Amino acid sequence: MKTSNAGGTVIDQPKSREAVKPAVDKATTSKPAARQSKIYIDGKFYSEADAKVSVFDHGLLYGDGIFEGIRFYNGRVFRMEEHLERLWDSARSICLHIPMSQRAMGEALLETVRQNNLRDGYIRLIVTRGVGNLGLNPEQCKTPSVIIITAQIALYPEAVYKNGLSLVTCATRRTNPSALNPAVKSLNYLNNVMARIEANQANADEGLMLNDEGNVAECTADNVFIIKRGQIFTPPITAGALRGITRSVVFEIAAETGIKVIEADITRHEMFVADEAFLTGTAAEIIPLVKADGRPIGTGKPGPITTRMISRFREITRETGTPIYA
Ligand code: PMP
Repeated sequence: MKTSNAGGTVIDQPKSREAVKPAVDKATTSKPAARQSKIYIDGKFYSEADAKVSVFDHGLLYGDGIFEGIRFYNGRVFRMEEHLERLWDSARSICLHIPMSQRAMGEALLETVRQNNLRDGYIRLIVTRGVGNLGLNPEQCKTPSVIIITAQIALYPEAVYKNGLSLVTCATRRTNPSALNPAVKSLNYLNNVMARIEANQANADEGLMLNDEGNVAECTADNVFIIKRGQIFTPPITAGALRGITRSVVFEIAAETGIKVIEADITRHEMFVADEAFLTGTAAEIIPLVKADGRPIGTGKPGPITTRMISRFREITRETGTPIYA
């Protein structure tokens, strides 16, 4: 996922095949109004031009910080509490003290959306270690910084949900949890960026990342699911996957429809012989995967379980969430 500086596009576009364009038209994204978004930094709102952090912030110097990507639909923030819980978990794991309560953070998120007068969009919530010196010792950094950026989201075009994405397996392995646990949503995404570069170079839409054992961990910015004989499988968190919020919604939808989701190690072979596959993420939502390393998955078209999953997910996103303007 990438964020534009114009407050417009926030999703990487699929690379290959037909030149798919974001659903937000160009005229909208290039309007000056789109650039006048208000950005929250440590309790104050700034214009995009004035929203700046110190070059001594360890978020910049060392990727020392954490973040969340959150969506709001139809005037409601989707799964806000879960995102805040995960942010707090990331913070605890890296010994970062978030300088406000979860409740106050929730209110800051809502207020930032209100200030930007949006009903549908994306929120990037960042907590950096704060300003220190050039040494990496976090004890130098006395006050973490909280940054909240909102953007109008450019959805993948409907064609992507109908036709699906291709992926390639990346040589870059997901970081070993004992080195840097992928369950921490940290500002250090170079591991994912390296994999994304491989996907780009292979002209694929996404990159599949394996863990040190050679089992599937996740994609560069999304969780992965496969379907075989009516059962849904996804790698466990311990395989090196982020505990995705969209992933958890898939578990809920599957339970509603009586389909079992099994957390199990998945090999490339199992990807190749799956009946269906899809990926999940806050920005991507649920997107079918139709090709893996040149092999069609199933029929090479999105399958029935994936298609049902997408439509139920859309209902849930539009009907639930924390009201922004109540
Ligand atoms: N894995 C990685 C590496 C991610 O960055 C993300 C977030 N885009 C996900 C999985 C999906 O998580 P979520 O559904 O919470 O957005």
